[in-house]
Amino acid sequence: MEKFDVTIIGSGPGGYVAAIRCAQLGMKTAIIERYPSLGGTCLNVGCIPSKALLDSSEHFYNAAHNFKTHGIDLKDLRVNFSNMIGRKEEVVKQNTEGIRFLMKKNKITVFIGHASFLSKNSLEIKGKDESTIIESAKIIIATGSKPATLPGIEIDKKRIITSTEALKLTEIPGNLIIIGGGVIGLELGSVYARLGTKVTVVEFTDSIISTMDRSLGKELQKVLRKEGFEFFLGHKVTGVSTKGKEVTIKAVNEKGETINLKGDYCLVAVGRRPYTDNLGLEKVGVKVDAKGKIVTDDHLQTNVSGIYAIGDVVNGVMLAHKAEEEGVFVAEIIGGQKPHINYNLIPGVVYTWPEVASVGATEEQLKVAGRKYKTGSFPFKASGRARASMDTDGFIKVLADEATDEILGVHMIGPRAADMIAEAVVAMEFRASAEDVARMSHAHPTYSEAMKEACLDATGKRALHI
Ligand SMILES: Cc1cc2nc3c(=O)[nH]c(=O)nc-3n(C[C@H](O)[C@H](O)[C@H](O)COP(=O)(O)OP(=O)(O)OC[C@H]3O[C@@H](n4cnc5c(N)ncnc54)[C@H](O)[C@@H]3O)c2cc1C
Repeated sequence: MEKFDVTIIGSGPGGYVAAIRCAQLGMKTAIIERYPSLGGTCLNVGCIPSKALLDSSEHFYNAAHNFKTHGIDLKDLRVNFSNMIGRKEEVVKQNTEGIRFLMKKNKITVFIGHASFLSKNSLEIKGKDESTIIESAKIIIATGSKPATLPGIEIDKKRIITSTEALKLTEIPGNLIIIGGGVIGLELGSVYARLGTKVTVVEFTDSIISTMDRSLGKELQKVLRKEGFEFFLGHKVTGVSTKGKEVTIKAVNEKGETINLKGDYCLVAVGRRPYTDNLGLEKVGVKVDAKGKIVTDDHLQTNVSGIYAIGDVVNGVMLAHKAEEEGVFVAEIIGGQKPHINYNLIPGVVYTWPEVASVGATEEQLKVAGRKYKTGSFPFKASGRARASMDTDGFIKVLADEATDEILGVHMIGPRAADMIAEAVVAMEFRASAEDVARMSHAHPTYSEAMKEACLDATGKRALHI
């Protein structure tokens, strides 16, 4: 029986990064993945394919709506949807093969099959035709998550679909109804709205992207409406049914009024559930909480010593970069080091256009905590760079401690916000004040000047260009 120092179950961004770091630290490492393609949700049916389709659809949207203003006339513009999906698949292939290469380079043994615990130090891997048993001193569970649904809604994967199917449709829907106004629903809704689909979002709470600073959801809703999105906020879906190619969604609002929406597809985007099916956790006594997430301590170790868990399957935000941080963290803990993760500074991003990005405390959280804070903001319509590229929607909002001026939260909606949020993360990791950032030179003309101006505004000195 082959023996390893560390074995990781699951090859998503949590698992494969943990494996690389373990191998770098000199441990004999194995990784087990139930699908032949490595990379988990993120690379196969999540972050990467969604961004590939967002980029393609954005090119089309710009060509159809904005090129003319730039002085570029196009004739006979149309979408070749199967090519678009084909390019996305090629991007996924390049990335998943890249993970294979990294496993080989770091001498990590890859097993393809479904892993389950036999004991706290041994695993059975059921492959297509054969089953293998291995031993491992330490085991890291990185089995990720699967799309969740609502009680009474059955996903048929044909007309009532999840994000996985929405990434590989064979036609552009005429009418797409999305249940859930969160990140995944709005990103995939953007893809299809840009290609001409009539997109309707039904959301239970009174705001889209409701876990982010409220101001962001308001602004994003305004922009998406201009793109043709229709929103039904404060509506609880009570039933979804299909008849041939038609899907009917019933929802009710607080006043008890019912709406009936008809579409040709219904995308259920109400979050994801931790995935531990047939993992044999009960055999070794690993605890899960009421939501099915594996319970861990501060070192991400489960209640069973030597078994760790990371990523979507444990508590916290379900994001690829959070899973990656935890992968490195656990590898270094096992390697005897003293790593640290600042969970307050894990940025959240929505890849619509304009992009939305956020880090640190929201204004609502500061209010609840009774923290005294100052606000500074700067709109992109006052940015020379944004005017040049015609990306004038959105703003950057900076929240800073009233007494010390330390930056407590940065919330932005605007061009390239996904990349720009890194500046806020760095500033906050080094506990910068708003004045620190306001006094740093930002290249002109760039979108990042809006961050400098918002910080200047937060100091009370007033922004320069407004
Ligand atoms: C449409 C979509 C878009 C997204 N976009 C973003 C984004 O832009 N940015 C971002 O940060 N996050 C994004 N996410 C979330 C991101 O994909 C997840 O947070 C991330 O993949 C979690 O990583 P993980 O390693 O914990 O698990 P996963 O990536 O889910 O990987 C777990 C792996 O474990 C395998 N596995 C499970 N059980 C077993 C078993 N018993 N034996 C063997 N293998 C097993 C699974 O097959 C899977 O490959 C997106 C998600 C979706 C669905």
